[in-house]
Amino acid sequence: MAQRKPFVGGNWKMNLHHDQATALADALAAGFKDTDKVDVVVCPAFPYLRCVANHLKKAGSAIKVGAQDFYFQGDGAFTGEVSLAMLKDVGVSVVLVGHSERRHVIGETDVLINAKVRAALAAGMEVILCVGEKLEQREAGQTDAINLAQTYYGLAGVTAEQMSKITIAYEPVWAIGTGKTASTADAQNAHAAIRKALVSMYGQKVADTVRIQYGGSCKPSNAKELFGQTDIDGGLIGGAALKAEDFMGILNAAK
Ligand code: PEP
Repeated sequence: MAQRKPFVGGNWKMNLHHDQATALADALAAGFKDTDKVDVVVCPAFPYLRCVANHLKKAGSAIKVGAQDFYFQGDGAFTGEVSLAMLKDVGVSVVLVGHSERRHVIGETDVLINAKVRAALAAGMEVILCVGEKLEQREAGQTDAINLAQTYYGLAGVTAEQMSKITIAYEPVWAIGTGKTASTADAQNAHAAIRKALVSMYGQKVADTVRIQYGGSCKPSNAKELFGQTDIDGGLIGGAALKAEDFMGILNAAK
């Protein structure tokens, strides 16, 4: 079976203004040098992408910069939107797609999410495709069905070759920002089901190389156990990514 390099992302959401964002970037660049062992991306809000990228570059850090959103069309008459070319221009190489807050708060559909995945791949970006069930879906026994449907829809039209640029983030919606974490067994089961779906779509060899992150109240105290599961290859971190000490605790757990 392929050895997968752990991948941890910090999703800063609509938090941290200029001085906080650059200070956090500086602290991570100075405090975490093991990017040969763990791939790391931080996703600041749009206005700070460029300065965070510049701070990381100046510090010689291999921590990548990701965007939390973008529009799937090229530059043009789309008021308020941001293109992939603009993101590339300011040093972004990774994009989040399908985060539960965009699905369930902003109202993004599977069709839009798939358009974004395909546009990002065409632009040469790495994509973190987020999937995950709501509490009522879990309670109705639909966890795997929801995750697999979101995986199939999200990846429609994506080729086996393009899968090297895809990471899946399994994020049970009820665990995001709530302090509730999936049990390691539940998380592992969900990850294994997603990998099995990837086998059916792309074959074992490709599925074995795709990294599947866990997200949902992951913190330094539970990261090691979660990341120790067979099919959990790192995490997508919200709240605990806002403090250097906490995020580095998680990065060290992933090593
Ligand atoms: C997230 O928003 O992707 C997330 C996992 O948030 P938190 O870690 O705060 O639950």
